[in-house]
Amino acid sequence: MNAEPARQPEKRPRASGEAEALKRMADMLRQGAVMLDIQCPACSSPLFRLRSGEIWCARCQKRVIVVREGQDVTIAASDVLLSSLEQTLLRKLSELNEMMKAEGDLGRLRELSALLSGLLDNLARIRRMTGRRTG
Ligand SMILES: [Zn+2]
Repeated sequence: MNAEPARQPEKRPRASGEAEALKRMADMLRQGAVMLDIQCPACSSPLFRLRSGEIWCARCQKRVIVVREGQDVTIAASDVLLSSLEQTLLRKLSELNEMMKAEGDLGRLRELSALLSGLLDNLARIRRMTGRRTG
C-alpha cells in the first residue's frame, strides 16, 4: 500500500527571480557587503558595496560603476548598458537568422547578410568592451 501523501506540484511563483535576488542580497550582506542608498540603473534594486569595494547589483548580478557618490550620484551604467545592448543584438541576430532562413531573394539575402555582419561586428565590439574573452 503506497499511501504517499498527495504532493503538490511545486509551482515556481512568478516572483521567483525576486526571491532569488533577495537570497543573493542576504548572502552578500552575510559576506560583509553594505547596502547602499542608490539604485541599480537597470532594475532599480538597491546596490551593494562588496568588501572588495565593488558595487554590485544582486538582481542583475552585475557590477555597477558609480562615478560619484554623495549629493549628486551619477551612475555610469556602462556595464548595464552594454549588457542590455548585447541582449538586444543577440535578439536581433536570432530574428535575422529566422529571416535569412525564410528569404529566397538573393538581393534581399545580401542585404540581410550585410546587416548580420554589422550586428556581429557590434557584438564583438561590445564583448571587447566588457572584457569578456570569447576564445
Ligand atoms: Zn540591477
